[in-house]
Amino acid sequence: SKEDVQAFFKKNAFVLFTVAAVVVGIILGFALRPYKMTYREIKYFSFPGELLMRMLQMLVLPLLVSSLITGMAALDSKASGKMGMRALVYYMSTTIIAVIVGIIMVLIIHPGKGSRDEFMKQSKIEDISPVDAFLDLVRNMFPPNLVQACTQQFKTKYGTRFVHVTVTVNDSFYNMTNLTEQITREEAIPIPGQVNGVNALGLVVFSMCFGLIIGSMKEKGQALREFFDSLNEAIMKLVAIIMWYAPIGILFLIAGKIVEMDDITEMGGQLAMYTITVIIGLSIHAVIILPGLYFAITRLNPFIFIMGLMEALITALGTSSSSATLPITFKCLEENNKVDKRITRFVLPVGATINMDGTALYEALAAIFIAQVNNMEMNLGQIITISITATAASIGAAGIPQAGLVTMVIVLTSVGLPTDDITLIIAVDWFLDRLRTTTNVLGDSIGAGIVEFLSRHELQAKDVEMGNAVLEE
Ligand code: ASP
Repeated sequence: SKEDVQAFFKKNAFVLFTVAAVVVGIILGFALRPYKMTYREIKYFSFPGELLMRMLQMLVLPLLVSSLITGMAALDSKASGKMGMRALVYYMSTTIIAVIVGIIMVLIIHPGKGSRDEFMKQSKIEDISPVDAFLDLVRNMFPPNLVQACTQQFKTKYGTRFVHVTVTVNDSFYNMTNLTEQITREEAIPIPGQVNGVNALGLVVFSMCFGLIIGSMKEKGQALREFFDSLNEAIMKLVAIIMWYAPIGILFLIAGKIVEMDDITEMGGQLAMYTITVIIGLSIHAVIILPGLYFAITRLNPFIFIMGLMEALITALGTSSSSATLPITFKCLEENNKVDKRITRFVLPVGATINMDGTALYEALAAIFIAQVNNMEMNLGQIITISITATAASIGAAGIPQAGLVTMVIVLTSVGLPTDDITLIIAVDWFLDRLRTTTNVLGDSIGAGIVEFLSRHELQAKDVEMGNAVLEE
């Protein structure tokens, strides 16, 4: 009936706007392509999109810190230890499954068949040793200066010397979506674990410890608990406002990117096959494996859960950054899917920083593709090495656009593949990045759903202890 239709539109207004934004963005982008805009004109055109990125990123830092601190403080150390274990087991197992899917796909489809296509251009990339990369990852877990950990810093690499530089100089011109491009251009490598200059990993570690301590303090901790809880509520109110703007931003982000992209008809056979292989691999993980896992554990319909995440998934597609999407992911999980705040606050910030199924799948697949175009056969030992380093590289990759491309260097060096060959796949990376980011966000969200289900008894016990109204199961 008419009322039903109206009610449907009202309830799903946001989702409909967001989907419409993607469609209009794609149409507008293709309509404008023949005009051959200059780089500067494209930047002006995508300005509304750049603003969305900035608004979301503005909230990431306070959101990450306040949600983790309150999340940890709301649980006692035993409960949070158990939940933490569950989350960790989920992260590790789904990441490894993703890597295996990627490897199977690239071995079956074999996109790098034949000798290397003419058009695949290659340029020089500096080597980075896996040991340095690993030490950087651990180093960043302990930021010596918390204020500095919140500011923008990147590391350029000239030879073996690491130099810290600030990128704010060009910030007004290059938008955030082009940050990595700009970095590769200047031969700079973002510090692993950094989120657009914010050392997310360091802040995650600090906030978790801090929250745990506050939780263990009785009366004395009350003021801090309330402060961060109230900060978190206020930030989430800001997120609700930004969500109204999100469809506009997404429209221009997508349209701008389509105007800017290289001509696809020039794409050679190998690269096209590679793109298709990645798409198939990511789809299998996102549409079959993750929902299947959710169903197997909770016995609930995974696609209803995924429908509730639609805005977050589309924002991930539009921004190609799982950390910029984090505020929207929170909203979707808490409001649409009614996931307990104690879970989301605890699980999501960590997930967005370290759990990247799409990136892991992609890195393993891409490494083997590069071996294929070089006519190198990988033996089982090398494939296992690739699985391990791809997992590590996905943990180390920041939730920013194309971070996965940068951490690929680690995977390639570990099995002696030419790192310069990363440049072969740069042409399609902007697109694949969006898809793997969407997979990353989906993995984090389904993880929150699963951890909540597995932790329902602890949550209830805590409710009883605190005298909260206990909801019927
Ligand atoms: N852009 C991805 C993300 O934010 C990371 C990557 O480049 O794979 O999740």
